[in-house]
Amino acid sequence: MKKRIIAVVMALFCTTALIACKEKAGKAGGTNTDGLLNKGKLVVATNASFPPFEYVGDDGKPDGFDVALVKSIGDELGLKVEIEDMEFDSLMASIGTKVDASIAGMTITEERAKAVDFSDPYYEAVQYVLVAKGSKTKTYDDLKGKKIGSQMGTTGDLLSEDIKKDENSTEVDTYDKAIDAVNDLVSGRLDAVILDKNPAEVFAKQYDKIEAMDGKAFGFKPEQYAIAMPKGDVKLTKKVNAALKTLKTNGTYDKLVRQYIETE
Ligand code: GLN
Repeated sequence: MKKRIIAVVMALFCTTALIACKEKAGKAGGTNTDGLLNKGKLVVATNASFPPFEYVGDDGKPDGFDVALVKSIGDELGLKVEIEDMEFDSLMASIGTKVDASIAGMTITEERAKAVDFSDPYYEAVQYVLVAKGSKTKTYDDLKGKKIGSQMGTTGDLLSEDIKKDENSTEVDTYDKAIDAVNDLVSGRLDAVILDKNPAEVFAKQYDKIEAMDGKAFGFKPEQYAIAMPKGDVKLTKKVNAALKTLKTNGTYDKLVRQYIETE
C-alpha cells in the first residue's frame, strides 16, 4: 500500500514537472503563440562592428550582409525586422528575453548550441591571423608566447586561450570590439589578432601596416555562421530555415553576397 502511494505521488510529481518544463520552453520564445516577443515584429540583435557582416552605415543605422539577410528573411515571413545593436558578449543572454533572435557572424559551437537553437548554416568562415606586415609569425607554434588580441566571447578568443594553454607565457588580451584589438596591433602593443576571415580582410585593407593570414595555415578549422534563436523555439527556427532556403534558391542570397562580401 505504502509503495503504491509513493508511486502515485512520484507519477504526479513527474507529470507536474514535465508540464512546468514544457511551459518554460514555450515561454523562452516569447509569450505569443508565434514565438515572437512582439507580434508582427522580429527583434534581432547584432554587434555592428564586424564588417562586412554588420557595421554602422553612413546613416547611423546597422547595415551589412547579416542585417540585409535577416531583413530579407523578415520580408519572406511578413515580419518587420528591428535590429538591436549590442556587445557580442551580451547576445546569448538576450536571445528569448530581450530579442527573438541574433545574427552576428555567430559561429555554431557545441557550447552555444546548449543554450540556443541555430538556424541552418548560412556562411562558412575560418579564423584569420592579423599580424604586422613582414612579421615572422606564420604557424600555430609561432603564436606561442606572443601577445595576442581577440574579441571577448568569440571563437577567436577560444583559440587564443588554447594557445595560452599550450604555452603559458602567451598573453591574451580581450576587447569588446575587434577594431580596438586591431588598433593595438597597428600601434605595436600586440603581436597578433585572431579574428574571422572577412572582418580581418576588411581591417587589413584599412591599415597599411598590417596583413591578414589564412588561419588554415595555423591549423584553424572552418566555422559555420548561423542565426541563433531561443532554445526550443521550433516554430521560429523552422520558419527562418524555410525563408533562408527560399532566399538561396531565388537568388537573393547570392545577390547579397555580391553586394556586401565580394565587393572587389
Ligand atoms: N564568428 C565568431 C564567433 O562566433 C565572431 C563573431 C563576431 O565577433 N561577431 O565567435
